[in-house]
Amino acid sequence: MITVAVTGGIGAGKSTVSAALRDRGAVVIDSDQLAREVVAAGTPGLQAVREEFGPRMIGPDGALDRVALAAVVFSDSAARARLEGITHPRVRARFTELQRQAPGDAVVVNDIPLLTTLSVAASFHLVIGVVADPDVRTRRLVGRGLSEADARARMASQLTDEERASLSDVIVHNHGEVAGLESAVNELWTGRLLPFEANTRTGRPALRNGGPELLPPDLRWPADGSRLAARVSAAVGGLPVDHIGPTAIPGMPAKDVIDLQLAVPDLLTADRLSADLTAAGFPGVPGDDRDTPHGGTQDRADDDPARWVERLHVNADPGRTLNLYLRVRDAPNWRWALLARDWLRAEPAERAAYLDVEQAANRHRAGAATDSADFSTEQWIDAAYSRGLRWALRTGWTPNAR
Ligand code: ADP
Repeated sequence: MITVAVTGGIGAGKSTVSAALRDRGAVVIDSDQLAREVVAAGTPGLQAVREEFGPRMIGPDGALDRVALAAVVFSDSAARARLEGITHPRVRARFTELQRQAPGDAVVVNDIPLLTTLSVAASFHLVIGVVADPDVRTRRLVGRGLSEADARARMASQLTDEERASLSDVIVHNHGEVAGLESAVNELWTGRLLPFEANTRTGRPALRNGGPELLPPDLRWPADGSRLAARVSAAVGGLPVDHIGPTAIPGMPAKDVIDLQLAVPDLLTADRLSADLTAAGFPGVPGDDRDTPHGGTQDRADDDPARWVERLHVNADPGRTLNLYLRVRDAPNWRWALLARDWLRAEPAERAAYLDVEQAANRHRAGAATDSADFSTEQWIDAAYSRGLRWALRTGWTPNAR
């Protein structure tokens, strides 16, 4: 089973996309509907609203007087927070209950307008953002009976498309005909959601499509890194996760691969977290558990291969190539990943040299054995290691003061 959020501004087409996914077999849970259910007449939720906000909030028919409640919470953020303290936990509990009732191989889709923070985005395997031009949305909403001013005011109070894009793994553009939307949803369902679900259920990595060629820097990589790091961290009880590697260096051409590093207290913990990571869509790759010491430090402890052991997890989602390294906090491989990133961010000449080596390795890879191309990159990194360490000493860099 995987859980997928469908989010978007009013009139963008969330409900339409959710319905199209339901037609293909998804189990759809509508957050708006849950929010109404948990304060329906006769529920403990409604009783709690009455206790908090007074009997005036209940109409003569025993149902919530939405107009009266809206008048209280609309301009009073503390009151709104008290209301959400009543509704949100109940919506979450009901969501969990419905999710439990879904078949083990379900793609559970949550139509959720209020997906506004990274921590909520991180609680799903995947977030689909539906976007459409403001004029198109206004036309649709006017078609549904809203006034144009009302439609525009509501749109203005919601996230911008850029904010939404940074919280979304997939953007569905819904500016045009429903037929175009249907084919985008088809592609998403068969090309991504079904294999993602099957891979997650069976603990299998997705087929890779990121790399090997170097792409120009993609402005979405930083947001992808933050979102995926938040998702991994949420899956393991909040341990720190950093975006590392070439896609974490602004302006750097790179393979379309997000590298993440999860800091664990020890390898036993790494192995204990493996099942949780797999369930969250990040299956392990057994056997691939050793980085090589880069050496040259004159520090015998740092050069000990036993201190460079790690665990590798990847992605069950075929739409995003990702490497997740589990490394022991304060071990030399953990420290070097953070140092190399910060050093290359700070030193343009070193960045250019690294890119040269990567490009040469890539040309080489196109015509020769992959192993030797990787070897030349590794050689450069071995030599760079001591330069990076010297830079850290000179600048007072430490992995924790970030
Ligand atoms: P949301 O749930 O994001 O508020 P809806 O899915 O309810 O948006 O869509 C808003 C309105 O626009 C609905 O009446 C819907 O039928 C219509 N609609 C959605 N997508 C399209 C489209 N591609 N072409 C025409 N009308 C659309």
